[in-house]
Amino acid sequence: MDEKDHINLLKQALAVSADAFIIFDSEKRIFFVSDHYRRVYPQNADFLTPGASVYEVFDRMAEETGVAVEDPRYKHAKDFWYDLKGQIEFPLENGRYLRVTASPLPDGQGTIVSTTDITEYKKQERALAAKQRELERALEKEQEATAVQKQFISMVSHEFRTPLAIIDGNAQLMERRPDELSGETVLKRTKAIRGAVSRLLQMVDGVLSANSLQTGMLKPVLQQFDIAALIGLLCEEQRMVHEALELALEIKLADDEVVWDRKLITIILSNLLSNAVKYAPESPKVNVSCYEQDGHIHIVVADNGIGIPEHEIPYIFEKFYRATSAASIPGTGLGLSLTQELVNLLGGTIQVHSKFGQGSSFAVLLPREVRIKDDNNSAG
Ligand code: ADP
Repeated sequence: MDEKDHINLLKQALAVSADAFIIFDSEKRIFFVSDHYRRVYPQNADFLTPGASVYEVFDRMAEETGVAVEDPRYKHAKDFWYDLKGQIEFPLENGRYLRVTASPLPDGQGTIVSTTDITEYKKQERALAAKQRELERALEKEQEATAVQKQFISMVSHEFRTPLAIIDGNAQLMERRPDELSGETVLKRTKAIRGAVSRLLQMVDGVLSANSLQTGMLKPVLQQFDIAALIGLLCEEQRMVHEALELALEIKLADDEVVWDRKLITIILSNLLSNAVKYAPESPKVNVSCYEQDGHIHIVVADNGIGIPEHEIPYIFEKFYRATSAASIPGTGLGLSLTQELVNLLGGTIQVHSKFGQGSSFAVLLPREVRIKDDNNSAG
């Protein structure tokens, strides 16, 4: 084989390579272009001719690919071609991606520029990045769930202790001196026990409802019922448990019949009413009103209790959040987050006004015509 044969062999080898090659001499003029280049980029064939300078080549390439001077890709590519050093990745208009690499030839004889189509690689890279983001999100959710679980365990162990201690303490007292106890004392102790049991039940109910909501098991079931009667009943329940409670009720509706989910409304109103009484421990005065405005029914529960510090109001609907003012009063911090989610589930909103040391008022606004979204995400 003479030298010409060698060169031909080399040209054929380069032609079948997956990459396209241009070799520039030390003056940055084209010395050789592989056939692959002409085949894959035929539109460049007429200016990729031996002797053409890299500057001309770049100008024609920019024109051919429609990359204007103001295009950010222009400067990026220009720097590479003028310098003939390093590597660039270049996106084309048709969605394809090229990687162009300049490798110096030995002894400053010139530069070999190889162009690789990396479209598939880029596609996979994007798919991988999307997968990674998905995994990161799943991990975040998992961590959040674990944190909520930890909070829940610490809350349960702390908050359930108080009523249990009340029950146990009162039972012990009665056990120790059963003969000496007057009827009145027994009644007092039993009342304390029943109060603690009712608080425990409320906490358990709240936790169960919150959990059902989380797992999407709590789906609204619409039925017709008398809202005025339900509010009256729930207020009566509070009166029975708290003798000192002063409760004023005012209902002004053109029609007391609504088509809502009775069970969910009961959870919502019970939470607000029991909070109103619980956070006004001295002598609770609670005003409940219900009226209609602009197609919405407003149910407002206002108390004269301890109130909420202004800067803490934005957080009270968060799971497990308890305001500093509530530190001495037992609770789980779950009631309002559940209440808000249920109100939203029924297409309504909940508003709060509170003045620290003076009282709070919670207003639930529900559309008279409730429409339930029929998708799997509607329960959160
Ligand atoms: P819990 O009452 O079990 O702590 P909630 O989610 O029902 O949980 O309430 C969250 C927090 O909001 C309470 O800890 C309390 O700080 C505050 N809060 C709720 N209702 C009232 C109210 N009527 N008066 C004062 N603070 C309230």
